[in-house]
Amino acid sequence: RTLLKKDYTFDNFVIGENNAFAANACIAIANNPGKSYNPCLIYGGVGLGKTHLLQSIGNKVHDTFEDYKIVYVTAENFTNEFIQAIQNRETEKFKRKYRTVDVLLIDDIHFFVNKTETQEELFHTFNALYDSEKQMVFTCDRPVSELKNISDRLRSRFERGLNVDLQPPSFETRCAILKRKVIQRGKQVSDEVINIIAEKITTNVRDLEAALIKVIAYSELVKKQVTKEIAESLLSDMSKNVSDKKNITIETIQEKVANYFNIKQNDLRNKKRTRTISFPRQIAMYISRELTEFSTTEIGEAFGGRDHTTVMYAIQKIESKMKTDPTLHKITEHLIKEIKGE
Ligand code: ADP
Ligand code: MG
Repeated sequence: RTLLKKDYTFDNFVIGENNAFAANACIAIANNPGKSYNPCLIYGGVGLGKTHLLQSIGNKVHDTFEDYKIVYVTAENFTNEFIQAIQNRETEKFKRKYRTVDVLLIDDIHFFVNKTETQEELFHTFNALYDSEKQMVFTCDRPVSELKNISDRLRSRFERGLNVDLQPPSFETRCAILKRKVIQRGKQVSDEVINIIAEKITTNVRDLEAALIKVIAYSELVKKQVTKEIAESLLSDMSKNVSDKKNITIETIQEKVANYFNIKQNDLRNKKRTRTISFPRQIAMYISRELTEFSTTEIGEAFGGRDHTTVMYAIQKIESKMKTDPTLHKITEHLIKEIKGE
């Protein structure tokens, strides 16, 4: 239970039209693990409640079925644990751990993209648990059909059972979520201010929470009542940021970077490794990370199916180089401005 956050419960989860299907499926699963919808996969964008729902299942099963062995793990940790098990020659122990659970909850399975050996291991774990009717629930940032570089047989396992999506919340649900969070935190925020936050922040629940925290912090630290005007100005940066990030695609970035360096857009996505290509490619990856909400895995995919570690390396390299190379700093600044249309 150590990895389950105790706030992530069904009681704390506000159900609206956007998430009712997924939330009710999760509740049914928690009431009857292994017997209702097995496996189940919840997909949707960042900050829409995937982790919250997944952990709520864990918490609820833990409260109801005391002797059940529940494992919650992110795909990233599952992968790292597996790698470590190989290094320490403890793969038998690893297999035993995961094949003897009653409920297996794996968060963010898009991380398994390109991890062929881990996929293989999970495939066998899946089969073992499936055959013995043990509950499995997964989350993913997109429909499984859109995952590239995942083995067909694992994909077909994920697609088995129930796949449900989470959508961004409506204005009304955003208000209800904010009100719940205010109560949960034992604070007070006027309805007027709640409405302004819900109007301005339309992306996802994580951004809503960040906005709420900012408003509460302001009233506590500046010791001023937050009026409508103050709330608006406090949030103006945040909603600007969000919309900035939303409109920029990796394609636009690739186009501008390719033009600037006088290379073909396609070169950024192919396997060429000459410096005239790979350097602009690294810059484009860095800018993609700066200006969009895409994960390094997604950025890697947009650059010809590269691994997320390659993207991380590129970002670090550009970041550290910019510190000592003012020309590079100017170039990236110029490109960022141009891409943002400033
Ligand atoms: P994801 O895993 O999809 O990126 P999270 O589950 O981490 O999103 O949710 C982000 C934040 O928003 C969490 O703090 C979570 O508690 C909150 N949240 C998301 N959806 C809801 C909801 N319907 N009701 C209450 N809180 C929510
Ligand atoms: Mg999550």
